[in-house]
Amino acid sequence: MKKDDCIFCKIANGEIPSRTLYEDESFRVILDLGPATRGHALILPKDHADNLYELPEEKVASAFVLAKKMAQLISKKLACDGFNLVQNNGEAAGQTVSHFHVHLIPRYKDDGQKINWVPGEPSAEELDGVLEQILR
Ligand code: AMP
Ligand code: ZN
Repeated sequence: MKKDDCIFCKIANGEIPSRTLYEDESFRVILDLGPATRGHALILPKDHADNLYELPEEKVASAFVLAKKMAQLISKKLACDGFNLVQNNGEAAGQTVSHFHVHLIPRYKDDGQKINWVPGEPSAEELDGVLEQILR
């Protein structure tokens, strides 16, 4: 199902033109208009889901198999040196478009991009607390 006023629904279903690298009955893969690096692309499901939690499991599986195939293709064609898969869920995590998507980001030596975090230094007690909170 498409969602009214969702730009990625319109792009995924061809109502808005895009630079399409791949398309099948469930997904479209497009070049990102604000790329982090040369070749940055997005996997968009054609059916609307706000995020990972809402995407049906079989589509999640297909999206990540497709991510592997696209990463292999893009790496080969653009001769990149590495590859990041990024998938943001929620504003706090940096999601700006509320339609599930996987970022395919080719990386090049010295490309100057940072897709990193500052490592924390939790105590053993803090780590144990997290473990207990998630598992209980
Ligand atoms: P996120 O911050 O994870 O929600 O990522 C949204 C991504 O969509 C950003 O990398 C944008 O550059 C990209 N984007 C937004 N609008 C378009 C568009 N019309 N066509 C292609 N990419 C887009
Ligand atoms: Zn949508």
